[in-house]
Amino acid sequence: MCYAIPGKIVNIDGRIVTVEYFGEKKKARNEFFDLKAGEYIYAQGGFVVQKILKEEAIPILKTWEEVFAKLKEIDLRLAREPKTLYQIANSKRQQHLGNSCCVHGIIEFSNYCKNDCLYCGIRKSNDKITRYRMSIDEIISSCDHAVNKLGFKAIVFQAGEDPWYTEDKLEEMVEKIREKFGILIVLSIGGRSIESYKRLYDKGARSVLIRFETSKAELYSKLKRGAKLEDRIDLIKGLNKIGYLVMTGFLIGLPDQTEEDILDDIRLTGELQTEMFSFGPFIPHPDTPLKGEKTPSLEACLNTIARARILYPDSKIVVTTALETLDKESGARQGLLAGANSLMINVTPKEYKKLYELYPNRVCIEEEVTERIKKVLDLLYAIGRAPTDLGINV
Ligand code: SAH
Repeated sequence: MCYAIPGKIVNIDGRIVTVEYFGEKKKARNEFFDLKAGEYIYAQGGFVVQKILKEEAIPILKTWEEVFAKLKEIDLRLAREPKTLYQIANSKRQQHLGNSCCVHGIIEFSNYCKNDCLYCGIRKSNDKITRYRMSIDEIISSCDHAVNKLGFKAIVFQAGEDPWYTEDKLEEMVEKIREKFGILIVLSIGGRSIESYKRLYDKGARSVLIRFETSKAELYSKLKRGAKLEDRIDLIKGLNKIGYLVMTGFLIGLPDQTEEDILDDIRLTGELQTEMFSFGPFIPHPDTPLKGEKTPSLEACLNTIARARILYPDSKIVVTTALETLDKESGARQGLLAGANSLMINVTPKEYKKLYELYPNRVCIEEEVTERIKKVLDLLYAIGRAPTDLGINV
């Protein structure tokens, strides 16, 4: 499949392998495989997720070789002579990380939530939405489709905080996914105990997407009904310590948020040893207490991406679905050209996707996933990005 390119191992130093993609070297962590220099692998999020036979890798690389060189040329041309803020950020991205772009899948497996966050459409008190939860078997079969039919190599498993998924169930889910598929397993399940996350790590999960939402402690407590920012930050630090690659960030356009607050949010994201920055616009949901608030402009979001890129030039920054929702035609393109270098594609089964309504009018709810993949690939090729792994900084 086409949104991951295999790489050749050129060096091994304990758990860190150096992988070459058409002459470019990236590092990746290897924990699951017995590897030798000269062998071929797929890496995702700086993690070796699959070994691939040389006989299979060579023809794939052949088809990529010419395209890859062309893409680099386009990317370089678009990053030349930067003048505006977005162009400067884009040029920094090009210099520091080249034209790699991660494309992750996301499966939203339950919209039940025990929390009552004021901003969120799936909050407990919203009795207007139809709730759903996928069984472990349904999750596995959606994952099977995403991996074996659609070709994804990294998948985010996201849900509200739904106690139906006991620790045992989540561990069973992760273990089965780890056994069956060579992917980077990213959990996005909110507040669970650090012990519980440790057990999920031991079963094979290697990344967590968990936002701190805002760096203003008072606002955090107000929005999350008494919860403490400090606890969320401790959890994020604990996840880092376990060894998880952490994706975190915040909401742009929350009530009373100033430009200075957003800079603080960017700085906090950077200080948390974040593997990937994930921030997006707050889009008011009509069935929540914040329904009367304003949606921030696309420009405010692009400015945030550009600033994050300039402050943290080596960072990975995802264009979130919420940002794409603000401009369905060109939000993703504008985000990628303002400093971002990663995208998400929703691979939740269609009947559930529309019910996972964190905010209204989400992008790509009606679109077939194959259509969406095609559009994303067309976009990446148009702006010269390649789905090689971004690697890790070691
Ligand atoms: N329960 C998990 C993940 C589900 S919510 C957790 O707490 O981490 C995933 C993200 O959706 C949240 O972190 C929040 O930043 C975002 N979100 C929720 N409501 C939103 C809204 N109205 N507009 C935009 N993003 C929203």
